[in-house]
Amino acid sequence: MNKFNRILLKLSGESLMGEQGYGIDVNRLHDYAVQIKEAHDTGVQIAIVIGGGNIFRGLSGVGKGFDRVKGDQMGMCATVINSLALSSALGALGVKAHVLTAIRMEPIGEFYNKWRAIQYLNQGDVVICACGTGSPYFTTDTGSSLRGIEIEADVMLKGTRVDGIYTADPEKDPSARKFDDISYDEIYRRGLKVMDLTATAMCKENGLPIYVFNMDKYGNLARVLRGEPIGTYVHR
Ligand code: UDP
Repeated sequence: MNKFNRILLKLSGESLMGEQGYGIDVNRLHDYAVQIKEAHDTGVQIAIVIGGGNIFRGLSGVGKGFDRVKGDQMGMCATVINSLALSSALGALGVKAHVLTAIRMEPIGEFYNKWRAIQYLNQGDVVICACGTGSPYFTTDTGSSLRGIEIEADVMLKGTRVDGIYTADPEKDPSARKFDDISYDEIYRRGLKVMDLTATAMCKENGLPIYVFNMDKYGNLARVLRGEPIGTYVHR
């Protein structure tokens, strides 16, 4: 039995590069695809937003002389590359996945609209929403909260490489303590860098809970769907 009927899964582009430092690690991609297939086999409806940080981030280009808007457009193109890679990996496992883009670019992907996305989900296909929000100055975290709210997901599952939200960065501070659950307001109060503030604010205002967990540990997506308390639950 799944805890949720419809999920928005956010995957970071950075995780997709594995140990490589850049681009797409095919083993990591395969691992993600298998986890998604296993979740899909349980009957849960899955929409995915994937980042582009393994290829390009607009903000990091600014210091190198890139125009911010063009840099962000490059970042959005990076999310398309990752979305196509994931749809291809899912297709190879027999899972039908549609790439819907926030910026028109047929035939690479279909132009996103809420009802098309829900139609695909209801027919049992996976939907991958590319280009984040389609606008510069946003991130794919905000893209995920937006899509999660639009498609009326029960939860946004934020797959990261740490197993939840901590009082401080556990990779730098060994005394950092993990939260099993936390409110949106507590995240603000403590200045925790879980997601960007725009994304957290959207989730708060529209009542979309977030579950942060370690997606890089094989089997964790299924554990979250079964309701095992392995990450951090963010709620009102
Ligand atoms: N981006 C954007 N608008 C959006 C989503 C993404 O301009 O709505 C750009 C932005 O430059 C961002 C890049 O795409 O840095 C990649 O997305 P993100 O940094 O969120 O990827 P992640 O950190 O999840 O790998």
